[in-house]
Amino acid sequence: MKKGLKWNALLLLALSFALVLAACGNKASTDTTAGEAGGEAQSALEAIKARGKLVVGVKSDTKLFGLKNTSTGDIEGFDVDVAKAIAKHILGDETKIELKEVTSKTRIPLLQNGEIDMIVATMTITEERKQQVDFSDVYFEAGQSLLVPKGSPITGVDSLTKGTKVLAVKGSTSVKNIREKAPDAEVLEFENYQDAFNALKANKGDALTTDNAILFGMQQQDASFEMVGGNFTDEPYGIAVKKGSTDLLQAVNDTLTDLKSSGDYDKLYEQWLGVKPE
Ligand code: GLU
Repeated sequence: MKKGLKWNALLLLALSFALVLAACGNKASTDTTAGEAGGEAQSALEAIKARGKLVVGVKSDTKLFGLKNTSTGDIEGFDVDVAKAIAKHILGDETKIELKEVTSKTRIPLLQNGEIDMIVATMTITEERKQQVDFSDVYFEAGQSLLVPKGSPITGVDSLTKGTKVLAVKGSTSVKNIREKAPDAEVLEFENYQDAFNALKANKGDALTTDNAILFGMQQQDASFEMVGGNFTDEPYGIAVKKGSTDLLQAVNDTLTDLKSSGDYDKLYEQWLGVKPE
């Protein structure tokens, strides 16, 4: 009798141990985006809904698209407002969002390792990037141009001859494009747009190159600079999600469609860019 009790107690102990293990296993898997919930694979969209918060990678160095307001600490811009509209569409509340600061160089790695659900950060849709991420429909049309001090002898990419220095940001299409369009110029690469602009102001280069829309924001920050030569590339912006996140991508595209049909897209565009979209 006594022996039986002992075995029963041991069995109970083993059972509860197994239960704890199973519970741990469940917890670990529901915490991950691609985890299993009740035996079913959880989609990217379901994971966001279960978490109750959308985590978006945005720029914090780019006036008009994503710029940190130094007095409030808030990041503000066109991209940020588009991201909030996506949070509202998915979770019914635009405040259910966490904005994570990304740069042109860090945005894809942060998406790949699951730190952010999507990138809304002045990102051009390219064939090369399509190998790594899935893109939404185009939500903004930009084009690469040049920013120079007013009165500069540089009038366009053709002026960027041997001995000239062009400033650009790591991980951007701007670097690749300018190397092709002005192969004789020296390209200096910076971590972010504020650093690149500060370098231009400090006379460390002859021109800064990136999308016209970003340069337009810099010109607003300091009127002693101007854009020259017009656009020499097309930079259609897309919102990027992890490859294969089909339902999340659909939710993003549905948001963009709604924004356009409600007229809110035009309002946001005008609010940030100061003109109506073409
Ligand atoms: N749109 C370009 C790109 O995706 C330049 C702007 C940026 O660096 O984000 O690379």
